[in-house]
Amino acid sequence: MLRLILFVLLAIFVARAIWRLFDGIVEGASGGRPRSRAPVRGVSMVRDPVCGTFVLPARAVTLVDGPARVYFCSDACRDKYRARSSTRSASSGPTAGPAEPSDRPEAVEERTR
Ligand SMILES: [Zn+2]
Repeated sequence: MLRLILFVLLAIFVARAIWRLFDGIVEGASGGRPRSRAPVRGVSMVRDPVCGTFVLPARAVTLVDGPARVYFCSDACRDKYRARSSTRSASSGPTAGPAEPSDRPEAVEERTR
């Protein structure tokens, strides 16, 4: 009788040890594989046209410039780009709707030239 109890206790102890070992193997296999195989991939970076920094679209400051959407690393770069593009569009041709062309002497000069 005592021998049977000892045998059962031993069996439980061994089973538990084996189970723990098995558990550790499974944990190591499942935890190690995705960690080594999951680099940050598939995220397309966009380039800031002002300073040339590559930024994530999700975190970038965006500006809709006509049909295109432009991404910036910061508000400062966006403001710079906006100022640059507004001066560019004003000098190249009056394409903006709300601005009155009669209020701008440059536009009149371009027409007379
Ligand atoms: Zn920038």
